Amino acid sequence: MKFIGAHVSASGGVENAPVNAAAIGANAFALFTKNQRQWQAKPLETKNVSAFKANCQKHGFVPEAVLPHDSYLINLGAPEEEKLEKSRAAFIDEMERCQTLGLPLLNFHPGSHLKKISEEACLLLIAESINLAHQAVPEVVAVIENTAGQGTNLGWSFEQLAAIISQVEDKSRVGVCIDTCHAFAAGYDLRTHSAAEATFAEFDNTVGFQYLRGMHLNDSKTPFGSRVDRHQALGEGEIGLPCFEVIMQDNRFNGIPLILETIKPEVWADEIRLLRQFEVTASERVSA
Ligand SMILES: [Zn+2]
Ligand SMILES: [Zn+2]
Repeated sequence: MKFIGAHVSASGGVENAPVNAAAIGANAFALFTKNQRQWQAKPLETKNVSAFKANCQKHGFVPEAVLPHDSYLINLGAPEEEKLEKSRAAFIDEMERCQTLGLPLLNFHPGSHLKKISEEACLLLIAESINLAHQAVPEVVAVIENTAGQGTNLGWSFEQLAAIISQVEDKSRVGVCIDTCHAFAAGYDLRTHSAAEATFAEFDNTVGFQYLRGMHLNDSKTPFGSRVDRHQALGEGEIGLPCFEVIMQDNRFNGIPLILETIKPEVWADEIRLLRQFEVTASERVSA
């Protein structure tokens, strides 16, 4: 079963996210559990938490189909002690919020070395940050998102993702979210069926599909290998549709949230329908 949705608004309260996701025909969604541009947030209130759970139940969203995203301010590989401490505390708070909401995953961008430390040192800091979060919060899985490699952001190569995972102690609670736009911008070709299959085979060899806990399904405005992160509507960018056919027709992408972060929320319902068509085509092909 494929869980397909979008990163929907939680404005007015986390309980609105499942309502917004249901309105576009999704059976998965992503959300921010706090304002993503601020360090501090009030703790979640009991009434919002129970409304969130009730709305998820009412609209048929299971917890493993929900992919919360952390704040953009957090840098778990920050070279400066003060920023690192602040980031680690904020990340633990994000994990606790997920746990309060009964959600098993937390998606985050790994971190940036800011040209002040080596890549290796930064990857180690990120892994240590995950280890600290695991010690502080039971249960929630830290889901590392691959980046486009913009600026000094790490995690753009599958090798870097594998290097972080190798230094995480509890491997049952670390995972990866592959963003198709980021992978493409970072130099992983996805423009044809065979290119997409080769990229996913490389991911399997370097990281392993057992770590795949989510996907961000985005086309890319910027060219192949540009290292610039600009999302585009499906089929309207440089990647095109074949990659998304491959994903929908491959059962290694079953049971994890497949999340649109495309730039036209008004066509999310259409994009979900399109992805569902690709899935149907696949099952017809199997039974034929
Ligand atoms: Zn993403
Ligand atoms: Zn992006």
